[in-house]
Amino acid sequence: MTAAFDQPTITDAARRLRAGELSATELTRAALARAAARAADLHAFITVAEEAALRDAAASDARLRAGKPAGALEGIPIAIKDVIATAGIRTTAGSRILADFVPPYDATVTARLRAAGAVIVGKTNCDEFAMGSSNENSAFGPARNPWDVTRVPGGSSGGSAVAVAASLALGSLGTDTGGSIRLPASYCGVVGMKPTYGRVSRYGVIAYASSLDQVGPFARDVTDCALLLGVLAGHDARDSTSVERAVPDYGDALAGGAKGLRIAIPGEYFVEGMEPDVERAVQSAVETLGGLGAQIGSVSLPHTEYAVSAYYVVATAEASSNLARYDGVRYGSRVDGDGTLLEMYRRTRAAGFGDEVKRRIMLGTYALSAGYYDAYYLKAQRVRTLILNDFARVFQDADVIVTPTAPTTAFRLGEKVADPLQMYLSDIFTISVNLAGLPAISLPCGIDAAGLPIGLQIIGPPFGEELVLRAARAYEAATDWHTRRPPAPGGSR
Ligand code: GLN
Repeated sequence: MTAAFDQPTITDAARRLRAGELSATELTRAALARAAARAADLHAFITVAEEAALRDAAASDARLRAGKPAGALEGIPIAIKDVIATAGIRTTAGSRILADFVPPYDATVTARLRAAGAVIVGKTNCDEFAMGSSNENSAFGPARNPWDVTRVPGGSSGGSAVAVAASLALGSLGTDTGGSIRLPASYCGVVGMKPTYGRVSRYGVIAYASSLDQVGPFARDVTDCALLLGVLAGHDARDSTSVERAVPDYGDALAGGAKGLRIAIPGEYFVEGMEPDVERAVQSAVETLGGLGAQIGSVSLPHTEYAVSAYYVVATAEASSNLARYDGVRYGSRVDGDGTLLEMYRRTRAAGFGDEVKRRIMLGTYALSAGYYDAYYLKAQRVRTLILNDFARVFQDADVIVTPTAPTTAFRLGEKVADPLQMYLSDIFTISVNLAGLPAISLPCGIDAAGLPIGLQIIGPPFGEELVLRAARAYEAATDWHTRRPPAPGGSR
């Protein structure tokens, strides 16, 4: 394969596949070869599905050769976060307790990818049960940032961001409960999008915090992101929280340009302690959008400061309930021994869960317990409503809100493991979006002095994915940050 074919976008590859210039098998082999070459230093995958991928690629090639109508992702190698069920391919959630779990069925999003012709190359590394901001909570060891392998890729969908940044797949899926798509997208210099709550089915997605979880795409650029979102989005009778609402052609939204877009900049998202390079890059992105004809205005989202606290009550409460099912009886690993059923539960859960998961189960159980429910859980739900109202007020006069995705760029492995609170603060700019159920994207908008990518977050009103994509594409088309690639293997800064 020539160099020009080596690391195409989905859009490029799809064109070449249809023109017969490239085969799905070649494309898949190249992705698998890169994944193997970078397995040791990046650790993006927990499971590589080589055999299944090559079989799917051959089937795709047969369809292409037969002139069958090509699906939107026909022959395109895609990686899937390991909290999303894939029939016949191990799905661990980054946890020892599911280390041997092979789902008998596909999540709806997996089925949609397959129906669109995608080739599933493997399951990406992530924080255990998606709880984390650095990927260091994976029971299988962390993924690493391709821009500097001494740094974290961000979490929890770290492996999915790494896979796209290092071209181990052309696109990938992640989940975002408090920032887990946008944060790693920002740290790894790729595009990542969390859709509106209810836009994409959660059926077959291992639950962390059900009122916040949402699946979304990672891609190299906004055009590919829109393409993937179009495949994922839509009502699913098997997820009662998925919304019955027509899916627009997200590709059509891309050409709108920034002219006339009303962009709100919230003062609360430029905080003390944030990296000066991040602040500068985001301010400069706002100027670029203004120069393209957007109207820029300052706004206030006054309840932002309570978002992290409210989130860690709501998310842990839901997690404590969702994770009660891992009892060593129905599925997941079991640690047997003499004694009572209760002892078996205790041994199984003590051995099967990592420290952060245990911390959250305890926090959440406490917040829900009699006597504390009103003081913590109910109060957090009320704060959630205040945050939602803040956004609703701003969106009366604005099309999108622009902020940094995170206060810093990628930090070093080990830097925040001993201090959970510092780790939780990585998500201060992403979490309120989940509490309010809104769509938001992160896309590259700069490189800091250490050579690390900076992310720009664009937030839309409920089901305003088209506005978000339109603003993002307008910015991307006027800049070249999305074309920057991480250094060659072995590089660190
Ligand atoms: N870092 C946040 C947490 O640990 C968000 C994780 C996520 O979005 N899945 O809860």
